[in-house]
Amino acid sequence: MRYGMVIDLQKCTGCNSCTVACRAEQGTPAGVHFHKVIKYEFGKYPNAKMKFLPMPCMHCQDPPCQKVCPTGATFIHPEGLVLIDENKCIGCRACMVACPYESRQFLWEIKTYFLGTHPTPYEKIKQRGFEKGTVVKCNFCLQRLEQGRLPACVTTCPSEARTFGDIDDPESEVSRLIVRHRGMPFRAELGTEPSVYYMKG
Ligand code: SF4
Ligand code: SF4
Repeated sequence: MRYGMVIDLQKCTGCNSCTVACRAEQGTPAGVHFHKVIKYEFGKYPNAKMKFLPMPCMHCQDPPCQKVCPTGATFIHPEGLVLIDENKCIGCRACMVACPYESRQFLWEIKTYFLGTHPTPYEKIKQRGFEKGTVVKCNFCLQRLEQGRLPACVTTCPSEARTFGDIDDPESEVSRLIVRHRGMPFRAELGTEPSVYYMKG
């Protein structure tokens, strides 16, 4: 069993609903984002076009972030997720340097989006797991997976550009999509064996 995600780049419209859903689900402090959508333009007017690359943590199966972690705070979950134990993280940030996808952020402080310095009741609940001085990142919504629910970015995407499931199972929808559409990880040549695949349609 290995959780993985397939993202259809033809369907993605760059609306950033996934990024917003991620923030709401994870309760990330202001300035911290576990998910990003990279936008790039190509061609020249009047034939210019825009493309979008949604990027969660790639949950690599040979993760350089985990190899350099001196305390074992970054570890691989039995179902393939790359996770951080905030109680073991000493904030050295070696993992941030090692990650080629810039998927990690350091919590310099825990800032609120609203009401100046006072967190909202929602933020108070959601931000309990955040420790100042540690590194954070996407966990593929493990808290939802444990309830039998899909990651927030997957259920929210209005274009249904995302499919999530067991990429070790050749019969799963994610595996079928990868084979049928020759899905590829972003920068596969880095050899980190990401669990996120992209397909062009
Ligand atoms: Fe693309 Fe879906 Fe994210 Fe919107 S929600 S940016 S369509 S992946
Ligand atoms: Fe680690 Fe970066 Fe791979 Fe995520 S994308 S598992 S943070 S190396």
